[in-house]
Amino acid sequence: MSAGAPLTVPMPGKPYPTVGLGTFTIFEKTGGAEEVYNAVKVAIAEGYRHVDCAFVYGNEKAVGDAIKAKIADGTITRNDIYITTKLWDTHHNPDHVEESLKKSLRDLQTEYVDLYLIHWPFAFKDGDELFPKDADGNVIFADHDYVDVWKAMEKLVGAGLTKAIGISNFSKKQIERVLEVATVKPSNIQIEIHPYFLNEKLVAFCKQNGMTVTAYAPLANPSRTWKNAEEPIIFDEQVLKDISSAKGKSIAQVVLRFHLQRGIVVIPKSITPARIKENFQLYDFELSESEMQQIAGLDRNMRFYKEGIAASHKYYGFHDEF
Ligand code: NAP
Repeated sequence: MSAGAPLTVPMPGKPYPTVGLGTFTIFEKTGGAEEVYNAVKVAIAEGYRHVDCAFVYGNEKAVGDAIKAKIADGTITRNDIYITTKLWDTHHNPDHVEESLKKSLRDLQTEYVDLYLIHWPFAFKDGDELFPKDADGNVIFADHDYVDVWKAMEKLVGAGLTKAIGISNFSKKQIERVLEVATVKPSNIQIEIHPYFLNEKLVAFCKQNGMTVTAYAPLANPSRTWKNAEEPIIFDEQVLKDISSAKGKSIAQVVLRFHLQRGIVVIPKSITPARIKENFQLYDFELSESEMQQIAGLDRNMRFYKEGIAASHKYYGFHDEF
């Protein structure tokens, strides 16, 4: 293993593997659970010990089934695998937070998760409809304060339902409000990070405050359904093609390694066995300082996950500079 990219980073509970399998678009793209089930099984067989999922992805049952199968065939024990899931926006009523995690645990078929995140800082109307809409088709908001949600999250640690808690898609200002009241500090933040969106200021702020940082969309998700034709794709970038040839590594591997060397955990999503394998082979090469700088030069402050449906919510965080 080369310097600058450890296999795990410290977290309450147990060490957090620096590469995990993302599972978001699997369900959206296929509408089925089979791909996620197979992808998680392949990933575990290839050595992954970290899976990222969320209530809203609708895939916790399939993830749980795959983990159960790999425990049953003796590849892993429950303790070997790091499971992250997320509290959805319609479950922010502090009285509903524990119930929501318990539903996730039932689907995941586990007694606890390793990391539980508040998926977004804003809330939608309480209930089981994931995107409750009014007659005009706008999502109906709720005004539960994420600080109160955080206090409910803290209780889950005491109850043994999760080993660590964290946040996702929060801005610096929002994190500061959480830190003011927290008796259990956030251990992790999951945010969009890729070569077009390095998110440097927020990454630095979170690290200064003791959080591990996880990059979602680490490959700038080239197949997102809402992509505009003019938006760039990392696989077309000449600088990445050149570094890839020089290193004898794929563009995806170069970009994932770039994040690891920035001290950032990655959760690339794939349902393709060869890519799942490739995305885990990141620990046998190192990017030079000059290569790191060339990749950083692709930054355009270009966010792809804007969650515009919540842009008028008082707790929408992306109007903040970072
Ligand atoms: P991503 O991982 O950047 O990109 C996924 C796409 O890249 C898929 O279409 C996949 O294709 C393709 N791909 C994967 N490996 C590849 C390789 N080696 N070569 C070429 N193409 C490759 O994007 P993401 O899914 O948006 O983000 C990753 C994970 O982060 C999600 O799955 C989810 O777990 C998490 N996430 C969290 C949030 C949040 O709000 N917290 C938001 C978004 C995502 P195939 O699958 O067809 O192989």
